[in-house]
Amino acid sequence: MLIIKNGMMYDPANKIDGETIDIYIENGKIVEQPANERNNNEDIIIDAKGMIVMPGGVDIHSHIAGAKVTKARVMCPDDHRKDVVRKTKISRSGTGYTVPTTFITGYRYAKLGYTFVAEAASPPISTRHTHEEFNDIPIIDKSAYILMGSNHFVLDNIKNNNFDGLKNYVGFLLNATKGYAIKIVNPGGVENWKWGKNVKGLDDVVINYGVSPREILQNLAKVRKELNLPHAIHVHCNNLGSPGNLRTTLETIDAVKGEPIHITHIQFNSYAGENWGSFASGASEISDKINSSNNVTVDVGQVIFGNATTMTADGPWQHTVYKLSHQNKWVNIDVEMETGSGIVPYIFKENTAVNAIQWAIGLELFLLVKDPFRICLTTDHPNAGLFYYYPMVVEWLMSKKKRDEMLNKINPKAKEKTTLANIEREYTLQEIATITRAATARIMGLKNKGHIGTGADADISIYKFDENNIVKSFSSAKYVIKDGRVVVKDGEITGTHFGRTYYVKTKGEANDEIKETFEKFYSVSFENYAVEDVYVPRKEVTECCKESITNQ
Ligand SMILES: [Zn+2]
Repeated sequence: MLIIKNGMMYDPANKIDGETIDIYIENGKIVEQPANERNNNEDIIIDAKGMIVMPGGVDIHSHIAGAKVTKARVMCPDDHRKDVVRKTKISRSGTGYTVPTTFITGYRYAKLGYTFVAEAASPPISTRHTHEEFNDIPIIDKSAYILMGSNHFVLDNIKNNNFDGLKNYVGFLLNATKGYAIKIVNPGGVENWKWGKNVKGLDDVVINYGVSPREILQNLAKVRKELNLPHAIHVHCNNLGSPGNLRTTLETIDAVKGEPIHITHIQFNSYAGENWGSFASGASEISDKINSSNNVTVDVGQVIFGNATTMTADGPWQHTVYKLSHQNKWVNIDVEMETGSGIVPYIFKENTAVNAIQWAIGLELFLLVKDPFRICLTTDHPNAGLFYYYPMVVEWLMSKKKRDEMLNKINPKAKEKTTLANIEREYTLQEIATITRAATARIMGLKNKGHIGTGADADISIYKFDENNIVKSFSSAKYVIKDGRVVVKDGEITGTHFGRTYYVKTKGEANDEIKETFEKFYSVSFENYAVEDVYVPRKEVTECCKESITNQ
């Protein structure tokens, strides 16, 4: 047994708020306290006195693996010089910065106390690649959302009013790719970008198909319900990034008529104003809508000042970013009949008015949405900022003083065009545990994650918490336990236990129509399309912890 004693537990899903509770772990699971006093020399005991204990972090939206991530690594050779990570006895070398290598991604998430990360956008045809990279990311569990909002078969079935055909295709695609959820990016707009166009509203028309973004959202939301998938449709709205887009966001929430919808990096879709000159916050309208609708959950996509690498299936938006940012690098990819993609390096600057307002809007949303089970911490890594800066976001949420310091330092438009300066709310540790673990796991339908109840996976993070140094407290966990093994101690990797890949098994198979269309138009043969196996077992290296760890 691994026993964690005397820690202050924050387990919002089980309504435990800072109580001292001992945790018993056996075979990678949380178990009940044994009836009799144990006296077993083989037990490992962690004395967490004075420390806080939370479930392992669950990231609902990040870009860590797959074709676009690899292309971004190629595009950013400067990353390789700015953040070199040396190997240790346990861990491998690699590079970090904006697009970390696979191994460094796993180690850095683990050091923060995260044990599950969802790759938020995988084009079906390259999901084999996504899984191959997953097999190189140590410690954390993973899953992939499959891009469907501009897929030929999806659009064609909607055009032909063939809902059963659509449902069968979505089921087939999730099975074939071993994906976890339906991802929709700028529905219809990514297809129109192939003709140099976009869509501007929910009732615009997708070229050659005659269907609208509204129909794509409604049909995929209905498919999700009928296939009984664990996570809602995961939506990157139309008009992302554009001034005045809050109207599209509100319409998108209404469009699905009460079906569950998760809107991702909603900060980028909460803008008022008519143009870049009048750009302002729409966070109050958006958070009012979230507070009053029970079918919507969101993650924020909080801006962190500094270097980022933007990467998304939203090809037309990436072209806009390329033009706005005066960068000399831009990648645009047309992914056969399925989706698109764009990559542009970007720097969020404190003294740029729009960037400063974006930073404040993200925090407004966190602070104006009342129920922390409806809002999740993300930076849309590496789009709005890098995941290793999550502790900074936690500090801004927990300390008005700290966010005011930043607000007073950045472009004054942030104060003028948002309400952030007037918001007094400060998050509690319980609320932090919610937006980083309990809510994300619940929204993804991960029953054994995000809590420390009996039967849950033994994924646990333990921090030495100092309220005067919140960033430091959460930047390097004192201990992280994954599947009952100690993988981080004192902020260092002590074990390279490999996590699992989560995917759904559902109804749906390739019919003749799918196969015929495939053979005519795809660059790979149908037989080579489906991913057979997602998991390649690896040898584990571990150095911790044969003896009891006491009196820390
Ligand atoms: Zn994203």
